[in-house]
Amino acid sequence: MKLTSQQLDRACGALLATAAGDALGAGYEFGAPMPPETPVAMIGGGLGPFAPGEWTDDTSMAIAIAEIAATGADLRDEASQDRLIDRWNQWRAVARDIGVQTSSVLSSAARSGSTAAAAREAAASHHRSGGRSGGNGSLMRTAPVALAYLDDEAALVQAARAISVLTHYDPEAADACVLWCAAIRHAVLTGELDVRIGLGHIDAERRTLWEDRIVEAENSRPRDFTRNGWVVHALQGAWSAIVTTAVPGDDPAAGTFRADHLRLALEAAVRGGHDTDTVAAIAGGLLGAAHGASAVPAHWRRILHGWPGLRTPDLIRLATAIATGPLHSPVDYTGWGGTEALARHPHDDGVWIGGVDALLHRPDGVDAVVSLCRIPEVELGGVECVEVRLIDRVDANPHLDFVLLDSVRAVEELRAQGRTVLLHCVSAQSRTPTVAALYGARRAGIGVGQALAEVLAALPAADPNADFRAALRRLDPDTD
Ligand SMILES: [Mg+2]
Repeated sequence: MKLTSQQLDRACGALLATAAGDALGAGYEFGAPMPPETPVAMIGGGLGPFAPGEWTDDTSMAIAIAEIAATGADLRDEASQDRLIDRWNQWRAVARDIGVQTSSVLSSAARSGSTAAAAREAAASHHRSGGRSGGNGSLMRTAPVALAYLDDEAALVQAARAISVLTHYDPEAADACVLWCAAIRHAVLTGELDVRIGLGHIDAERRTLWEDRIVEAENSRPRDFTRNGWVVHALQGAWSAIVTTAVPGDDPAAGTFRADHLRLALEAAVRGGHDTDTVAAIAGGLLGAAHGASAVPAHWRRILHGWPGLRTPDLIRLATAIATGPLHSPVDYTGWGGTEALARHPHDDGVWIGGVDALLHRPDGVDAVVSLCRIPEVELGGVECVEVRLIDRVDANPHLDFVLLDSVRAVEELRAQGRTVLLHCVSAQSRTPTVAALYGARRAGIGVGQALAEVLAALPAADPNADFRAALRRLDPDTD
């Protein structure tokens, strides 16, 4: 589907924030609810035990769906679902945690050939034998399904149900997946948060029940949904975290932004306790779809990782391929001017600033890169690269002020860890000097106007666009 740049950012956000919520909640799984002032961080531990920033079964199962959708395959096809069961089994062989219901269904399906048909039959049999099968395990992995059908809501409803019933026979689980996928699709297309948008796809006899549950979520706290291993309480806990977390007003000078809602609501989801990673993964799918990948803090993007050996840029590439099609031309800056620009930062010897050529010809000692543009395929030899989505066009960045400050914080964090940083974009024309000026102002304790003048003296060809210059003034209103 042809998406605007902002819609694509939101499509990527759905998958990235699923992973972020999952990794944030991982260290608190099955813990008690926490008060609002308790700090929440990607501490790792939990059931794995997991490394800080590592995602768990929620995201791993979603990635298997995403990989298949990214090939352009229709998730409603039996062949696609057979491949999915196969991929889930590959993950299950090395998984460090797996939900009880999913584990039971996939292992009994394995005894009858591990096809999608065998999984559906095992799920039904699990339901009949225990009388219930409404775990949250199909809702937690559902975000990529929405990305595959942004252009076809009716197909999305069919696919959401079809992928849910592979492991979860209970119609409550499929209803929840339909509601959440419809809300994610709507958020990607419009930027709006509306969990009611898919109610028309729920069978009439259950629709009022779901309407009442949504109202209950809006009038409760996440911690009130104590049985959040159940799909209904998991959805209610996630929606409660989203709607009861106030959306901050933009106050760049104070360092608070509307984009912070994504982080604050995920923290609230985790503080609800019990199945923390799953509720936050569910919340993340919808929050990311509404606010975009650019609202996910760099501090989180740096450390996110998990099965099958993926990191943040891989999730972005997967989501992009699902939402816009599998064929993408490689990034190529041949013919662009200024790509060879390179200078030491005037306020910090441990930071280099320049154009994209510096990525290939890194100055001695550089062991971390902050890229403010899409980067070509280059061998980075283990050097960490923080990729930032920043577009050098007026009005093209949904969270411009947040992203500028967040990128500066990423450089500050790397420097605090003793790293030598290359900060670059394509031509060091607009993006690099803007972020470098804000970094320099904070580092040297000077006004951002003076910092920019000194950065521009080091990069004589640079000339930030008017949008970026205005953002710098908003971020430091005391400047001259
Ligand atoms: Mg988990």
